[in-house]
Amino acid sequence: MTKENVQGGGEEEQQAQSKKALKKQQKEAEKAAKKAEKQAKLASEQQETEEDDFAKDRYGICPMVQSQQKLDRALVRVQDLTLEKAEQQIWVRARIHTSRAKGKQCFLVLRHQQFTVQALLAVGDRASKQMVKFAANITKESIIDVEAVVKKVEQKIESCSQQDVELHVERIFVISQSEARLPLQLEDAVRPEGEGDEEGRATVNQDTRLDNRVIDLRTTTSQAIFRLQSGVCQLFRDTLINKGFVEIQTPKIISAASEGGANVFTVSYFKTSAYLAQSPQLYKQMCICADFDKVFCVGPVFRAEDSNTHRHLTEFVGLDIEMAFSYHYHEVIDSITDTMVQIFKGLRDRFQTEIQTVNKQYPSEPFKFLEPTLRLEYKEGLAMLRAAGVEMGDEEDLSTPNEKLLGRLVKEKYDTDFYVLDKYPLAVRPFYTMPDPNNPKYSNSYDMFMRGEEILSGAQRIHDAQLLTERAMHHNIDLEKIKAYIDSFRYGAPPHAGGGIGLERVTMLYLGLHNVRQTSMFPRDPKRLTP
Ligand code: ATP
Repeated sequence: MTKENVQGGGEEEQQAQSKKALKKQQKEAEKAAKKAEKQAKLASEQQETEEDDFAKDRYGICPMVQSQQKLDRALVRVQDLTLEKAEQQIWVRARIHTSRAKGKQCFLVLRHQQFTVQALLAVGDRASKQMVKFAANITKESIIDVEAVVKKVEQKIESCSQQDVELHVERIFVISQSEARLPLQLEDAVRPEGEGDEEGRATVNQDTRLDNRVIDLRTTTSQAIFRLQSGVCQLFRDTLINKGFVEIQTPKIISAASEGGANVFTVSYFKTSAYLAQSPQLYKQMCICADFDKVFCVGPVFRAEDSNTHRHLTEFVGLDIEMAFSYHYHEVIDSITDTMVQIFKGLRDRFQTEIQTVNKQYPSEPFKFLEPTLRLEYKEGLAMLRAAGVEMGDEEDLSTPNEKLLGRLVKEKYDTDFYVLDKYPLAVRPFYTMPDPNNPKYSNSYDMFMRGEEILSGAQRIHDAQLLTERAMHHNIDLEKIKAYIDSFRYGAPPHAGGGIGLERVTMLYLGLHNVRQTSMFPRDPKRLTP
């Protein structure tokens, strides 16, 4: 913040602010006091009963872990609790997912990530009455360490991911306590939409989820979505590295808007202003001019669009590709579609558990793709739409409903959820798009679609400084602002093409989800800037 800004507010405003801060402090202090009181109560309850409790050393609240000691104790992951571990004495760290006390027993479901296991604590020679009571009172979502014997169960436990075994708990310690009142219940947050209404059980709306994203991200569905999304990034990287691409990093603070003036966020930059990059476009092309031949990058992309739709964010992750080709930009289309196919295959083969987990809450058909990828010309797409009754001009861009309709028509005719639409009208593409040599109204540009929605825009780029200058002027772009970009083509530039993909859209559409906010960990849209 600049000095002016600090001093800018009036006295009244300052007073109001300090009052607010004081109130906040008081509230926080009250909260801390309450927490301390609660802990003291639990501790005193424990102490009261300690004297006549033979099991008093087998449970309790651990002092805050401040790395006081190194403990040579291996913690077994919940997902590894299988029959192989039967009869073994092990330690597990997990959250309390649910807990239910029944007479002298306490049934717990312990959860770590998307895996759950049943645990049983019963009064006996290893556990006292007080110990069972203590366990039953630990709040849901608290993190605990338990020592237990892994036992084979007679009947599969359908409600847990670890169905063949349960844990017979012998020691239980709280590592980190959760507040008792949760902003949302995890069971509600994974309930399929619609089911809640019929049976009178709750589901959780999107704003509540996003306001409490950390809790929402603990659900099995979210865990699966973001593990799969990490898979998309890894498969994208691995496939391109195998094809000889180089991963690059491009600046996100830039001096000129890459795609023209609209839709950019302006940020103050010392005594002047700068923009947040709308795409790495100009820089990845400059790397081609610098002879890197095949480059890609994964990074944030900013769009100041007031688009409150299911598929627009103001910050998303761009998976960008740029590649020099020999003679025809279709060489690049083939390389990109092959990369997408490798991603689809990798997801299908390595992420079945995650796909099925998401499908339980959001059912969808498995994603279908062809090899080689279906490529249609824009004109053909238009003809299909017109045959279905849509009225559209030759040089008009596809609206979202028409894009979706075309997706359905393509699926009916070709049975694929992934296809390329090639040769878009020049008028609807950015200034750096190479015109079609055979028809000046069209261009060497393409979009790719998943389940009828755009996931990639790309084109052969103009690699001739003079033509680029003409096209920029045609689009009324201030040449001075893109001088460095245009200059990079003055000293010889390889013919090249590329494209930009939205990561969140790929994950959303692959899984058949309906909102891009579900596939953005901390989504940014015109109405949301936190958490
Ligand atoms: P749309 O027509 O859907 O608004 P666009 O034509 O503005 O997209 P491009 O600028 O070509 O999109 O960006 C390339 C890709 O980046 C898109 O195909 C999409 O996958 C992704 N993308 C673009 N804008 C957004 C956004 N606001 N939120 C999320 N992803 C986006």
